[in-house]
Amino acid sequence: MSNLDNLDKIVSLSKARGFIFQSSEIYGGLSAVYDYGPLGVELKKNIRDQWWKEMTQRHDNIVGVDAAIFMHPKVWEASGHVGGFNDPMIDDKQSKKRYRADMIIEQYIAKLEKDGKEDQAKELQEQLDTAGSRKSLTEDLYDIIMENEIRAPESGAFDWTEVRQFNLMFKTQFGATSSEEDGVYLRPETAQGIFVNYKNVLDTARVQVPFGIAQTGKAFRNEVVARQFVFRMREFEQMEMQYFVKPGTDQDSYEEWLQKRLAWHKSIGIREENLRTAPHPDDKLAHYARAAADIQYKYPIGWQEVEGIHNRTDFDLTQHQEFSGKKLDYYDQKNQERYTPYVIETSIGLDRCTLMVLCDAYREEEVDGDERVVLKMDPRLAPVQVGVFPLIKKPELQEVAHKIDKDLREEFTVQYDESGSIGKRYRRLDEAGTPFCITVDFDTIEKDDKVTIRYRDDMSQVRIPIEKVADVVRDGMKGWSPS
Ligand code: ATP
Repeated sequence: MSNLDNLDKIVSLSKARGFIFQSSEIYGGLSAVYDYGPLGVELKKNIRDQWWKEMTQRHDNIVGVDAAIFMHPKVWEASGHVGGFNDPMIDDKQSKKRYRADMIIEQYIAKLEKDGKEDQAKELQEQLDTAGSRKSLTEDLYDIIMENEIRAPESGAFDWTEVRQFNLMFKTQFGATSSEEDGVYLRPETAQGIFVNYKNVLDTARVQVPFGIAQTGKAFRNEVVARQFVFRMREFEQMEMQYFVKPGTDQDSYEEWLQKRLAWHKSIGIREENLRTAPHPDDKLAHYARAAADIQYKYPIGWQEVEGIHNRTDFDLTQHQEFSGKKLDYYDQKNQERYTPYVIETSIGLDRCTLMVLCDAYREEEVDGDERVVLKMDPRLAPVQVGVFPLIKKPELQEVAHKIDKDLREEFTVQYDESGSIGKRYRRLDEAGTPFCITVDFDTIEKDDKVTIRYRDDMSQVRIPIEKVADVVRDGMKGWSPS
């Protein structure tokens, strides 16, 4: 069993094996920005492919788009991001550290609870809840921090600035001149690229409500509290699907997508006990949402959102209609009625999902007195699916191994390895999550034309004919479940 109390082991395995590196590491890194290495890029691609297959290929009424990162600045006014995509921040003047003001209060409440001061904690929680639902949020949060003399978590100082709203969007210049109108944002979510293409898709893709548009791509947020590895990054990748439905059918569709998405997480081999859904209480809903729930994973840092499912009503299409002046409604020919569709959104972060797969797969086991670190992940996600080894570096064995390696590469990701003892080679690929290893030995060439396939999960070994290798691996890819 893995016993991950924090992300340290995942961070070091990721670096040591080439899953994930800190961005610009040779310059000391760039905070909350990460690069994917040779194993990471394959893992991420396999997860993305599984998502894409599930969200487009398996449906005859969901199509894909790939919208640009830059969008017309008006998009972000319409979406509410220019006015409202803000977090209330407060700075500790002594340590110069910046915190989310509401988080500071939450932490203080948790401490009160731990100290048995439940009444005080409850009262403060009520104050915080009502502050969150009023316009004067920054002043209210500031007052709570002052009245309770809440100190900075790290420095212990009580020396705060005012609470200020901090916009999470990155802005950059567009074109050669730099007048204010030229400013564009790096998109903070991929969803708006779908809304602005809703009419294009409707006019060209022969879809009828209900239908969906799916997209994967980069999003950028100038996150203030951005630690915790790839859980919270400033540049990350989202996989989103907006499903356009007739008003009145929206709640049923929302419930259905929530269940479908939860089932998908289990289908890629995430252990059921580490997944749960968490509906947002009505008073915590975003202004545009009628209902929302997180799909949460039990990360080593606690239960956290990996995906959000939202009933966004007709908010986005109505806003874009108003700001662009273009009609974005829908004419239902069969029933001869016109309406603006409601949108059910499923929104997952690919990096958070990759982190979930790594955490869920990570195991430390004792084998013959030695520790084995192994990533037990769904074989379809494994960055290297098959390892091929000659038992030792002898030309006759190498030749057969190379031939097997070449044949398998047409269908699977393969790594050929001939250096070090067989045991070491198995361990290296265990850490990469490789489900199958094929070894060519002297019996292969002298006796039986068979090779040994060794299975990652239980380390069992079976001899199989060379011509059956691809079939056995293909079969092994299906129906995996975590042990
Ligand atoms: P959180 O409350 O954790 O900040 P959010 O509610 O702002 O997340 P959404 O705006 O609903 O997140 O974005 C959808 C998904 O995008 C999230 O479920 C998450 O997987 C991913 N995501 C959001 N922000 C980040 C980030 N800074 N780094 C990595 N992934 C992110």
